[in-house]
Formats: sequence, C-alpha cells, structure tokens
Amino acid sequence: MRVLITGAAGFLGSHLVDRFLAEGHDVVGMDNFLTGRPENLAHLAGHERFKFIKHDVTEFLFVDGPLDGVLHFASPASPIDYLRLPIQTLKVGSLGTHKALGLARAKGARFLLASTSEVYGDPQVHPQPETYWGHVNPVGPRGVYDEAKRFAEALTMAYHRSHSMPTRIIRIFNTYGPRMRERDGRVVSNFIVQALRGEPLTIYGEGTQTRSFCFVSDLVDGIYRLFLSERADPTNVGNPGEFTIRELAQIILRLTGSTGGIQQEPLPVDDPLVRKPDITIARDVLGWKPSVELEEGLTRTIEYFRSTIIP
Ligand code: NAD
Ligand code: UDP
Repeated sequence: MRVLITGAAGFLGSHLVDRFLAEGHDVVGMDNFLTGRPENLAHLAGHERFKFIKHDVTEFLFVDGPLDGVLHFASPASPIDYLRLPIQTLKVGSLGTHKALGLARAKGARFLLASTSEVYGDPQVHPQPETYWGHVNPVGPRGVYDEAKRFAEALTMAYHRSHSMPTRIIRIFNTYGPRMRERDGRVVSNFIVQALRGEPLTIYGEGTQTRSFCFVSDLVDGIYRLFLSERADPTNVGNPGEFTIRELAQIILRLTGSTGGIQQEPLPVDDPLVRKPDITIARDVLGWKPSVELEEGLTRTIEYFRSTIIP
C-alpha cells in the first residue's frame, strides 16, 4: 500500500509512519510543524519508501501518485497546545478533515480519522462505551478541541454514508511514550521531566481525577488493526487501567527516585473528572488488547527523557 499520514511529525504520527514502513508499505508524511518536530522523522532521512511534504492540511491538498489510505492525525492534541491555538485547532478538525476526506475520495483511498476520548467530555457514563454520546461544554475553553473532533467524526460518517467511502474512526485515550515533547504539557511528560529535574510534580486540583494511560506501541497496533478492519463506526482504543493523577505522580516519583515532591496547582476549567475506555469492541472486532503495563511503559518513557532532556 501507499498511504498518506497527516500530522506525521507529531508524537503519534511519527510512530505510525514507522509502523507502516516496517510493514513494507510506502508512506507520504505531511505536517506543518505546528506542534510537531522534524527530529521525530530525522531517522527516516533518505528512506526510499518515505516521502515528506511540509504543508498545512487546512489548505488544498495535493499528493502526486496513487494512495490506498489517508490517516488524518494532524491536530494540536495537548490541552496547552489547543488552548493557545484555538482557531487552528478548529480549522484542522473541520477544514483539514474535509480536505483529507476529499483527497481520499479522489484517490479511492481508505480514510482513518484520529478522534479522541475527549468527544465524551466530562463523562457521566463510566467507563465510556462507543455508544455514549458524551457530555461536552461546546463554549468552554476545551470546546475548541472536543467540538472540532466531534465535527470531524460527523463529517467522516457523512462521507461514508453519502459517498460509500471506506472510513474508520479511532477514539484514542490518553497515550504516552518516547517522542512526546518535553514541554508538551500532558501529564506524563510533565511529571517525568519535572521528576528528572528534581522539581516538584505539578498536580492540578486534588489529583483525584482519573485517566487511563496507553503506551504508544499498543496504540499504534490498535490503529493498524482498525485501519485494516471493515469497521466504520467509532472504536475506542486505550488501556483500561485507570489511575488517579496522584497515583501516577507517586509511581513516577518512585520510578525516578526523585525527592522533588508534589506541588498542587489549580484545576483547569472543564477538566474531566474520570476517563476509562470500554474496549469490548476493540477486543471482539480487532482482536486487540494492550500488552504494556503502566510501570513498564513509564520506565521506557523515563529512559527516553533521561537520554534527551538537558538537566
Ligand atoms: P502532536 O501535537 O504531537 O502531533 C500533531 C501533529 O499535527 C504535529 O506534528 C503538528 O505539527 C501537526 N499539525 C497540526 N496542525 C496541522 C496542520 N494544520 N497541518 C499540518 N500538520 C498539522 O499530537 P499527538 O499526540 O501525536 O496527536 C496526534 C493525533 O492523535 C491528533 O489528531 C490528536 O487529536 C489525536 N489524539 C492523541 C491522543 C494522545 O494521547 N496522544 C489522544 C487522543 C487523540
Ligand atoms: N495534569 C496535572 N498536572 C500536569 C498536567 C496535567 O495534574 O502537570 C492533570 C490534568 O489536569 C488532567 C490530567 O492530568 O486531569 C491529564 O491531563 P493531560 O493534559 O495529560 O490530558 P487530558 O486527559 O486532560 O487531555
């Protein structure tokens, strides 16, 4: 196959490029480096089956030659990024998804949308199955991301129904691992970098809010399986192991040996209180389940940051 991956210079996009290349496919990566980095793709310089196009996916998309797949991963993803880039986030979820769908249609390619557990907002159903419609504040600060992704899902289903296009929607739950940016703002990278620097870990609120953390290699395997499957309806992929943010902080302090302790900071507006995927569909339809436990994944991520951050 020959596939286009948008957001290829980002955390997830770059790992996905590696997976498609490892499976023997040709990959075109596209990114405008809004939140991504050329370093994430540096190891592919000169690779004969990889081509990179620097381009903003909210503008008309042109890709030479055939495409069998379009995987749309371009979008700011960390709360600090989408809060500082609200209009770009709404544009990439709406205009960018429209352009990516249009390109897939013109090429006769399969389309996969990177959606998110944020479509469930601050959930009133726990854990979250795909049938739950969510609880999102459309006009709150997080609405720019949540509503962009909800629109992107609606547009993807409209292309599927109106044009009989093969489309896939993955709802990704909090994922972590190597190639996250040091100042990415997400909790795992924040805590690890703070711990390695001997600084206090910044817990927002009481730290009783929960998240379920998936290691990047597990997630990429789920994306690859969903892409090859025949399932058009949204599919949750994430690790159902649920931890409070305070528990996460304690594990990271222990694994790094940091004595920096913890510092409490205000809870951001509309921060979801709980989050945990129901992965029954991923298990039954894709034969997928996560295999990397939190401590193992954190240990690998700590090793990555140890080798890359300047103390
Ligand atoms: P990231 O910020 O590391 O990567 C996003 C990439 O998209 C960056 O390289 C950025 O430069 C690029 N991009 C943004 N706007 C663009 C535009 N207009 N044109 C071209 N490129 C553009 O984030 P990530 O964690 O790798 O997330 C990738 C995708 O997965 C996003 O769509 C995100 O919403 C989704 N997702 C991620 C998670 C997670 O836990 N990492 C969870 C849910 C959903
Ligand atoms: N969080 C925190 N300290 C930090 C960064 C994040 O306590 O330094 C909390 C945040 O308020 C949220 C959780 O950790 O409750 C996960 O935040 P993240 O930004 O990683 O992702 P989210 O799931 O909120 O999109």
